Amino acid sequence: MTDRLYYHDSFLYDFDGRVVESLEREGKPAVVLDRTAFYPTSGGQVHDVGKFVLVDKREVAVAEVADDEDGRIFHFTAEPLAAGTAVHGNVDVTRRRDHMQQHSGQHVLSAAFIRLFNVPTVSFHMGAETCTIDLETASLTPAQVQQAERLANEIVLEDRPVAVRFVALEEARQLGLRKLPPKQTGDLRLIDIADFDLTACGGTHVRSTGQIGAILLRKTEKVKQGMRVEFVCGLRAVALARKDFATLTEAAGIYSAHIHDLPQQVRKAQEESKAAAKAQRAVLEELAELSAERIRAAATGSPRIVVRFFPENDAAFVKLLAQKLTAGQRDVVALLASGAGQPTLVFAQSPGQKFNMGQLLKDALVQLGGRGGGTADMAQGGLPLGATNLAQMESILHETAAKL
Ligand SMILES: [Zn+2]
Repeated sequence: MTDRLYYHDSFLYDFDGRVVESLEREGKPAVVLDRTAFYPTSGGQVHDVGKFVLVDKREVAVAEVADDEDGRIFHFTAEPLAAGTAVHGNVDVTRRRDHMQQHSGQHVLSAAFIRLFNVPTVSFHMGAETCTIDLETASLTPAQVQQAERLANEIVLEDRPVAVRFVALEEARQLGLRKLPPKQTGDLRLIDIADFDLTACGGTHVRSTGQIGAILLRKTEKVKQGMRVEFVCGLRAVALARKDFATLTEAAGIYSAHIHDLPQQVRKAQEESKAAAKAQRAVLEELAELSAERIRAAATGSPRIVVRFFPENDAAFVKLLAQKLTAGQRDVVALLASGAGQPTLVFAQSPGQKFNMGQLLKDALVQLGGRGGGTADMAQGGLPLGATNLAQMESILHETAAKL
């Protein structure tokens, strides 16, 4: 078993140890030390990183630290180290402090949800950017989230001592812990936030709640086991608030608005864009109607076959035109193509004629690539964007017309 120095001092970043076992895990070199200050991933908290300094001053990076069920701690190292090697361990301080802020913040927050709403925490996850707890409740209102955030931050402001205690399981049962581990032998390690929270935990924690800095709650979402609450503590809260502000400022700059007026500005822009799209649709409709009349007037033969390629128009226009050309007519066949946006073929005939637009389109698409389909009277197909030869597309329209 590895002597876990962090159990007694979360602020111990330097230590001396010796390699007692050198092995390979998941294809990577790893060592077990007699003692370590490196925290292994467990209890929702992610592992430390850092380095080992050898006697000859050579440095070996520690990239990952994992816990074994039998009490050993594996340090994954950049290169294998032989058993017996003496190492001076350096834990990455910035990362450890961040983890302490998140983990202690989680204890305060979980206790706040219990105190206010009697809602227990069922799991804790520490991510690279944000953390989450899952609460055993079917719902959570924005007001409840704000209340919990408020109480948690008051506990931070009160700068309550955070103590580590070891007690026997029997004694722990009498103490009314927020959470007892499922299986436990020997003494329990308790994290005691003075007169606010007492829970069993193996993590690294701040000395007093003031070191948590701040607790910021973010989104909530429904999950299988209840409600998930995203939060960040300490410097992460500052970093994320900074990032949010930069994002909002950039967006507000686009609208020349104050960041707090953004929702209103975005809504306004959305409404304007909807109105513009509606107006454009009306103009397009009118244009298609007029074009259809002109094209039909010039068409001869029986049936009247219209073959047109519109390099400057998009699919919406040619589809509309195909409808206007054929609807209410008895003998029109329209073989159309558009070149703007995604190149598109639209084949249509006045209802009830003998041709099969779906089949003709299929045959054309075999030559051009692309996907589409339709009925005997109307079919549409899109061609690969940027990879379609428009001249070939036009010549296939004429080949198709020749089959009629
Ligand atoms: Zn914990």
